[in-house]
Amino acid sequence: MTFTITPHASPVSTQAREKTLEDPGFGRVFTDHMVTLRWSTDRGWHDGKVTARAPLAIDPACAVLHYAQEIFEGMKAYRTATGEIVLFRPEMNATRFARSAERLAMPILPESLFIQAVEELVRIDKHWVPSGAGSLYLRPFMFASEAFLGVRPAQEYIFCVIACPVGPYFKGGDKPLKLWVSDQYTRAAPGGTGAAKCGGNYAASLIAQAEATEHGCDQVVFLDAAEHRWIEELGGMNLFFVMNDGSIVTPPLTGTILPGITRTSVIEIARELGMTVSEAPYALEQWRADAQSGKLSEAFACGTAAVIASIGEIVSSSGSFRLNKAHESPVAKKLKEQLVGIQRGSVADSRGWVRKV
Ligand SMILES: *Cc1c(COP(=O)(O)O)cnc(C)c1O
Repeated sequence: MTFTITPHASPVSTQAREKTLEDPGFGRVFTDHMVTLRWSTDRGWHDGKVTARAPLAIDPACAVLHYAQEIFEGMKAYRTATGEIVLFRPEMNATRFARSAERLAMPILPESLFIQAVEELVRIDKHWVPSGAGSLYLRPFMFASEAFLGVRPAQEYIFCVIACPVGPYFKGGDKPLKLWVSDQYTRAAPGGTGAAKCGGNYAASLIAQAEATEHGCDQVVFLDAAEHRWIEELGGMNLFFVMNDGSIVTPPLTGTILPGITRTSVIEIARELGMTVSEAPYALEQWRADAQSGKLSEAFACGTAAVIASIGEIVSSSGSFRLNKAHESPVAKKLKEQLVGIQRGSVADSRGWVRKV
């Protein structure tokens, strides 16, 4: 597919851009361009464009506004020490996007086209990729654009990629996270959309996130919907537990947990470093008991946006507990160092995870 490229007529000036890149925050400033691609039952994928970033015109009856047929991805472009721009395992985002589309009854975007679209945007906005610790966060997404209020999968969709330069995800930097355990709300149930990266999952999680904020916590720990007992994940990050014998546990992918690319990469790196990793159910009571007995030495959350963040305190309606040495977290630090090193080119990419743009 060839994308029609129409560069921005008046992009942000070099000076203003460089000022922005000094402290971009997270998700509040955007690059000059966007990629759009359309799909319809009649024409399939068509009308690929790279244009100035601008509002999209949609009909008030647009299906996504009523029935939430929307999916997205989150990935980053990094500038390495030698000035190259790279993507980290983009084919995994492409595959996951296809799985999400399938679950939400949306058309499948071929993986090569997904990667091509992302690369088109990174190429035209390459000056927006920060050097140093920042990165360019890429947000591919797709929504039902057909103007129709009947309930069935839409027959028209828009796929779009936008990008924003980002610094650290959490304002507190490396400060250990304080988590709120939601006992009232769940994120995903068996047979539901928990394993799909869709906006609807986030919409359903926001009330619990607001509750966490009220309790002075950073993020929510969601438990399983059936027993309210098993740890699943945070609203947008997967969880790992490190025992004092060096073994690592992470909840298994049973369909209610989002299969994180950071999660998979952490498992692979840890195993290569000789650690034992098991994907096994872990209960909230066990977490509390292991933290109190000292059997648990670390816990951390991981995802593309925040990479790896250690956990220092867990608050729930049935009391709170702490992980006293969270600020040390040597295993989380080691894994983060390896992962970030591969992304930035300072650790050898022996598995071919990095793709040069
Ligand atoms: C995106 C996401 C993650 C993390 O996935 P990565 O591929 O590692 O960024 C974890 N949980 C949820 C619910 C997510 O949406």
